[in-house]
This record gives sequence, structure tokens and C-alpha cells, in this order.
Amino acid sequence: MNIIKPRIRGFLCTTAHPKGCALDVQQQIRHVVENLVPTAQKGPKKVLVIGASGGYGLASRITAAFGYGADTVGVFFERSSVKGRTASPGWYKTAAFTDQAKQAGRYVANVNGDAFSDEIKQKTCDIIERDLEQVDLVVYSLAAPARQLPDGKTVRSTLKPIGKPFTGMTIDFNSGELRQLSLESATDEEVQDTVKVMGGEDWELWIKALAARHLLAPGCGTINYTYLGSEVTWPIYYHGTIGKAKEDLGRAVGVLRGVMATVGGYAHLVVMKGLLTQAASAIPGMSVYLSLLFKAMKSAGTHEGCIEQTTRLFNTQLFGDGELRVDTEERIRMDELELAAEIQEYVKKNWSKVGASNLFELTDFEGYRQAFLEMHGFGFADIDYDEEVEFLIDIPLA
Ligand code: NAD
Repeated sequence: MNIIKPRIRGFLCTTAHPKGCALDVQQQIRHVVENLVPTAQKGPKKVLVIGASGGYGLASRITAAFGYGADTVGVFFERSSVKGRTASPGWYKTAAFTDQAKQAGRYVANVNGDAFSDEIKQKTCDIIERDLEQVDLVVYSLAAPARQLPDGKTVRSTLKPIGKPFTGMTIDFNSGELRQLSLESATDEEVQDTVKVMGGEDWELWIKALAARHLLAPGCGTINYTYLGSEVTWPIYYHGTIGKAKEDLGRAVGVLRGVMATVGGYAHLVVMKGLLTQAASAIPGMSVYLSLLFKAMKSAGTHEGCIEQTTRLFNTQLFGDGELRVDTEERIRMDELELAAEIQEYVKKNWSKVGASNLFELTDFEGYRQAFLEMHGFGFADIDYDEEVEFLIDIPLA
């Protein structure tokens, strides 16, 4: 037992609060349950989520389990508590999800390990074969900083511009001060490595491994999440190294449509909205953009979090009655509220005006900071953070 407070360094918080993480999961479940749709009956019942412990992957798992009554297998890379340190937020959130889903009578299997490895792929296939026979939806929601290749070499993903340097602003989380940020243009090798880590190759390997073992049920679907965002972030995102990786998903989805067709199924890329997650907090300049975006979307009443996005995706697009809302590249668009003209107008108008004196007036940095704290289980009014809490929590791992 210990009293646990946030310990923040740069864009990292090195502690997590088990009770707050559990409350976060509870709130996500409540949202899903309150938004149940009649069409849920025909939705997925056996779901594999790769990257299941945070952000969009965890929200997808919660939507599938509590909105659609699905049994789920989740793959993730999380840290348990060691040497008196708290576990990672995703560890506590998975513990809470597992408890709640089991109480609701759902099957849950958790695989903690490197999703890029063949070992974890085969282990996951063994579990599906033994317990579920097949899956009817595969959500690929991995966001990783590095990937170990089969020859043992590790390649890293970088967040850099391509062709010319990037200069922008970032907000110091603790002080709220704005700092100038300059990044050199990426080398060709950095671009290729980022595509290796965050591009479509590993998604293909997963689907091919499942297909080879006949674990894709008839009509099975697979989805992968991507981001386009606003023109103001394009120099660092869409036109940068990560954008190249996301471009590669366009190639991979083409290949996977062929594989999924063999079981009468589908593969989709889904463009989600920009949100603060563990992965997004590492993107240079994203704090300014998201703080402006939150301000504009909250004023317009259109702000959504991960669970609102995945629930709306499942309910209205993947398993709804209506037509799919896809763009010219056949991507499902869930970012239409982020890209609405009046929202982007506000962001663009204020993008270069943000400074220390007007940060809290022009942007919702307070909301951004709150989202960051909540991501780690802190900042919830209903939790007494001066109380000692058990932080050694077990997850049943497969
Ligand atoms: P996140 O950091 O919240 O979650 C990443 C997940 O990947 C976690 O479950 C983590 O455990 C898992 N993971 C990382 N490395 C792993 C490894 N080697 N093996 C197994 N699991 C591993 O990230 P997120 O923001 O939810 O991103 C998920 C996807 O959604 C990404 O493709 C991202 O580009 C996309 N997306 C994010 C945003 C956003 O604003 N956050 C917007 C649109 C699309």
C-alpha cells in the first residue's frame, strides 16, 4: 500500500493510480452501455485487439465487450509493478477491464508481450484456436516506439519532418510555459525505420498468421486506425515520418482486402480524431494543436474521447444500418467533427497567436492537462489521492 501522486517529467508521467485507472475504465463502460444500439445483435462476438491496453485499442475492446457482448483477446505491452514502483496505466486498466468483463460473463484472454514477435503471434493464435475457434473482428491499434526485427535488429520510429526542418511550439506540462521546438529533417533511414514500425507490414503479418491457421471466421473484418489531422500539423505529422508510415497502411489494406475476401470478410482503414493518448503525447507540437482543438470542439459541443469515437464507429459505421461514410481512398472517416470548417478556422486563426499570456484563454490547455492526468488515473474528483492504495495488482495473463 502507498500514497500515489503523479510524478511528471517532460511528456511522461512515471506513476499511475490503480483506482483512477479503474474509474476511467468504469466510465468508458458506462458510456458504451448508455449508447447501446439495437443492431448490436449482429455485431462481433469474438474479437482480437492488438494494442488493447490504452487509447483507441482499449476503447475498442470495451465497446466490443460491453456494447456487443463480445469475448475478447487483448495483446499489449505493459509493465507490472516492480521494486515498489507502480505498474503502467495500461496494466491497471487491463486489470479493471478484466474484472468487469468477467463479472459480465465475458471471456477475456490477455497476452502481454511484443506483438511484433512471431512468438506472441503464435501464442495468440494458440489461445484463439483453443478457446474461441475463430475470431470475427481483428482491431489493430498498436502505437509503438520501436520494433525488433526477426534478425534481432531493433528499428525505431521517429517523429520528424521530411525535406525541411520543423519549427513549432510545445507547452511545458508543469509550468504551462511555451517553448520553441526545432527538429531537423529525417534521414531516408529514419523514414524507412518509422514505416517498419508504424506502417502496415506487421498488420499484414498478423492477418496472414491468423488466416494460415484458419482462425478468421466467415465474414470476419479487420480495421486499423490512422490520422490525418489539420494542415497546421501536417509538416510534423501527415507530411512527416509518421505520415509515411500511415501512407503504407494504404498499401497494406489493399493486400488485406484480398486476404479477407477469402473468408468473405473486409479490411478497413479508419481515420480517427486527434486525442491525447500515450502515443499522441509524444508527438512534437501536438500539445498546442490539441489544446486549441479541445477549446473549439468543447465550445461547439462536439468534443469526443476515445470511447465516444469507437462506440460511434461500431454503432454507426461497422455494425450500423446506414451506409459507410468513406472518402475517395475508401477510408472510414470518424474525424469529420475535428475537420469541420468552423473548428479548423478557430485552430488556424489562433495557431501562431498562442503565447504564455493567453494560453488559458485561447486554448483548453487546462482540459489537455486534465486528460493527461486522467490517462494515468489522476485528477478524478471522486478519488481521495491522500489515501493509501494497493498498487500490486495481478492480471490473469494467458
Ligand atoms: P496508445 O499509446 O494509447 O496505445 C498503444 C497500444 O499499443 C497500447 O495498448 C500498448 O500496450 C500497445 N503496444 C505498444 N507497443 C507494443 C508492442 N511492441 N507489443 C504489443 N503491444 C504494444 O496509442 P493510440 O493513440 O491509441 O494509438 C493507436 C492507433 O490509433 C495508432 O495507430 C495511432 O496512430 C492511431 N490514432 C491515434 C490518434 C490519436 O490522436 N491518439 C488519432 C488517430 C489515430
